Amino acid sequence: MAPEQFPKPGAPEIAFLGRSNVGKSSLINALLGSKEAKVSSTPGRTRAINFFELADAPWGQKPGQRAQLIFVDLPGYGYAKISKSISAEWPKFIEPYVRERGTLALCVCLVDATIPPKASDAQLVEFLADVGRNFLVVGTKADRLSGNGRAKALAALSEAFGADRLLLVSSKTGAGMKELWAAIREAGAE
Ligand code: GDP
Repeated sequence: MAPEQFPKPGAPEIAFLGRSNVGKSSLINALLGSKEAKVSSTPGRTRAINFFELADAPWGQKPGQRAQLIFVDLPGYGYAKISKSISAEWPKFIEPYVRERGTLALCVCLVDATIPPKASDAQLVEFLADVGRNFLVVGTKADRLSGNGRAKALAALSEAFGADRLLLVSSKTGAGMKELWAAIREAGAE
């Protein structure tokens, strides 16, 4: 998807990035409180960039008001079941958007908190830092962890990606959603 195919820049955009199967669609659905973002049943197959305008936003925007935020669902990367060549091509799909989009306010980097951090996640975070993007690392599927497991996961994520902006969430239980919304709203308001 080339930059000229992106929708006209409007409201601040919140981009969601992560390996296929990390729980990105589930998280977007949980944040929107609807089924607007299709949950992918075949991991790694969605390669388009999807833009979701939040018209009737969950934080009290009036119906009919212009979108205050746009969620951007970027294609998943690094899933073992997709071929190496597609994995290698992955940056081509997101790079023009992440590099050039003037209205991109925050990149939400999703990593599976239940498995050790992956090199591909570290590469993504490094890339975002290199291009100077505002980003937040969010560990998914926290409901699968015990209290001690959550502390360990936070320590592992913090060591792998840097400690300053880190959250654990669960789309299943809603844990961490308030904090994530707060970070999203803050970035959208800047
Ligand atoms: P995507 O490929 O990143 O969009 O991932 P999906 O949202 O399709 O989820 C991938 C798998 O992880 C599915 O089997 C989901 O049910 C599961 N999953 C997603 N979020 C959570 C979560 O918060 N907790 C648990 N336990 N499983 C989750």
